[in-house]
Amino acid sequence: MISVAIDGPAGAGKSTIARAAAQALGFLYVDTGALYRAIGLAVRRSGKDPADGEAVCGCLPSIRLELGYEDGVQQVYLNGENVSAAIRTPEASMDASSVSAVPAVREFLLERQREIARQNNVVMDGRDIGTVVLPNAQIKIFLTASPEERARRRYEELRAKGEDTAPEEVLKDVMQRDYNDTHRAVSPLRQAEGAVLADTTGKTLEEAIELMLGIIRAGLEEAEQ
Ligand code: C5P
Repeated sequence: MISVAIDGPAGAGKSTIARAAAQALGFLYVDTGALYRAIGLAVRRSGKDPADGEAVCGCLPSIRLELGYEDGVQQVYLNGENVSAAIRTPEASMDASSVSAVPAVREFLLERQREIARQNNVVMDGRDIGTVVLPNAQIKIFLTASPEERARRRYEELRAKGEDTAPEEVLKDVMQRDYNDTHRAVSPLRQAEGAVLADTTGKTLEEAIELMLGIIRAGLEEAEQ
């Protein structure tokens, strides 16, 4: 099986670019952030604080997560309910970032992610895929863009969904999540050894997808030799 591991900070366009690349290659696209988001949502719904590690651990035994695909688009199910839309709010983003710092949460999701990669050729995106989840991935990419550009993209996305958020708030959120993700004790976000750096600042979506596909194809050729 072939694994393409894509890591990078919030709003770098990982999911859009990775999904398009997976489709072009005929690989399964796995958005691991959705799993952390679903856990954050479950904790929030149970009335507990997602930043309280002990409370989060207490919620885990009652959480059942499944991934499915509808027309090639990943769906995440929390205890049987499709929560793919509910996990996309700014609050859910922050809650995902909080629960992702809890070691038991990362442990809870580790084997699940590895199992998917054992069964399928995957393009898997997240924060620790190349470093922790799939350290033997044949291709590793660290996808990034400047914080301002990432915040601008996130803002456009939220606005398109009719969410009323101030641009300064979105930038603050992006920077806060960057800080959380790079400073947590377990599996902090960092460029994996052997990962190719792809900076999409100033690139259109099409250009970013081309850049990504170029890196993957070069990596596949190398892996075959
Ligand atoms: O990628 P996305 O923005 O959906 O991820 C939501 C949050 O989940 C991130 O801010 C990060 O804290 C966490 N995450 C993680 N490890 C992953 C994927 C996501 O810690 N592999």
